[in-house]
Amino acid sequence: MGVLLSVKNLSISFQTASGELKAVRNVSFDVGERETLAIVGESGCGKTVTTKSILRLHSRDGGVVKDDSQIIFEDQNLITMSKKELNQIRGNSISMIFQDSMTSLNPTITIGKQIAESMFIHKKAGRAEAMLRAKELLKMVGIPDVEERVNNFPHQLSGGMRQRVMIAMAIACKPKLLIADEPTTALDVTVQAQMLDLLRELQKSVGMSVILVTHDFGVVADFADRIQVMYAGHIIERGLKNEIFQQPKHPYTWALLNSIPARALQRKSELYSIKGTPPDLSLPLSGCPFSARCEYCMPICKKRLPEETYLSQTHGVSCWLTHELAPKVDMPKLDGG
Ligand code: SF4
Repeated sequence: MGVLLSVKNLSISFQTASGELKAVRNVSFDVGERETLAIVGESGCGKTVTTKSILRLHSRDGGVVKDDSQIIFEDQNLITMSKKELNQIRGNSISMIFQDSMTSLNPTITIGKQIAESMFIHKKAGRAEAMLRAKELLKMVGIPDVEERVNNFPHQLSGGMRQRVMIAMAIACKPKLLIADEPTTALDVTVQAQMLDLLRELQKSVGMSVILVTHDFGVVADFADRIQVMYAGHIIERGLKNEIFQQPKHPYTWALLNSIPARALQRKSELYSIKGTPPDLSLPLSGCPFSARCEYCMPICKKRLPEETYLSQTHGVSCWLTHELAPKVDMPKLDGG
């Protein structure tokens, strides 16, 4: 499997009233062709800012990328390319689905025209051809009564249907990479499952890679090939799905997995909750960003940021517990996995 996207030393900050907020800190990762990478973490961990920066959408929120950051897609650095070049890629080879379909869709344009638009722009399709393709896409994503629905405005559809329309728009130009940011969060549980099934099917038929951004480990269980966990702007653990689910080595990953409601139900115990709150990213951080909340914190954790250690070719952990001189600690066994 070749590498489709390579993010190198990505750092993004925002100017706030209380100073410079460093939202993403020296993050590097690859996405392979046709693979699904899930980026998991609590709100504010930097996962959305990271993925928005792939299409340079972070700048709309005032984010500034540090000079040596690189995002390489098909041998081109997306950070330094011109706006014109980037517009050729947005919605064409890379597209994005957001959580809130109501604000992402244009309320004044019918869904058919909105889907057809990217084909006018990127594929130079004629009006009739693009509308035909829009109908095909609506069928593909499971919208009923397409001949009628194609002329509906977004407010005439349910939340689940609007999300399907967003997916249809995102895949209209057969992207090589789809970024799905909390695509199911606003939906009820049954519709969530349908939506994930749909994304999985489309991924196979279109042959695209997917970056799935979520705070919910339950969502990635079936869907992801690899997982990377973010905390306070850092990647603190990454690995194949089985490595993360069955052998988490970072206390934060372990805690997140134990906070999954289905696991608590299975082991008939109360839901685990992580004590404390994430650090204020506008203040200087010293040592491990999780140290104030970590049950295993050692003196070195407060002083030095742990370097990433690889336990296998694919399983990386940024925690002093994996250092050869660290005391041997066995985190309680994960139940219900
Ligand atoms: Fe906990 Fe220390 Fe590991 Fe950070 S480095 S997660 S504080 S044990």
